[in-house]
Amino acid sequence: MALQSVCVFCGASTGTNPLYREAAENLGRTLAERGIRLIYGGGAVGLMGVVADAAMVAGGEVIGIIPQSLKRAEVGHNGLTRLEVVDGMHARKARMAELSDGFIALPGGLGTLEELFEVWTWGQLGYHAKPLGLLDVNNFYSKLGNFLDHLVDEGFVRAKHRAMLQLCDSPDALLDAFSQWQPIEQARWHDREPD
Ligand code: AMP
Repeated sequence: MALQSVCVFCGASTGTNPLYREAAENLGRTLAERGIRLIYGGGAVGLMGVVADAAMVAGGEVIGIIPQSLKRAEVGHNGLTRLEVVDGMHARKARMAELSDGFIALPGGLGTLEELFEVWTWGQLGYHAKPLGLLDVNNFYSKLGNFLDHLVDEGFVRAKHRAMLQLCDSPDALLDAFSQWQPIEQARWHDREPD
């Protein structure tokens, strides 16, 4: 699939290891160089600010979506191509999903995981057929990857739904995987036959 816009979920903090900041810079720059628009939460703090700044500096297009209530706490970024201010978290997530052809999580905390898992469950339900990826910097997500495989082994997640989320340690590898992504045939969750 041709990727025009990719959504990045990431921490409102930078984390303790400088590798996380470096990875956010690298991802922002790579998106810009590949002519892919960055969609993200619109903040200037933490890895959010780092990925957005890197994409802007490299000449990319960046759209931020921020709830009015968080504009102060997350410091709404005023150097973007466009900053959209929305009514709340639900509107933010829906708008980010609507604008994006795929979703990448950089390292982050509860907000990052919540955003990733929600959009993944929307994919599982057949609301969209877009790819998702974890940027596995410094093995940040390796244990989560193992746990997700465990959910498949234990019969709680179907292998085809697990396969919607890919783990890569480089942005180029992840974006190449997205470009080759073949959406799964998706019956709706409640009327599917068992595998
Ligand atoms: P964190 O990973 O906790 O540093 O948060 C990263 C981003 O996720 C921040 O922009 C938070 O505003 C956002 N976030 C936190 N909780 C939620 C939520 N329930 N829905 C959507 N975004 C959230």
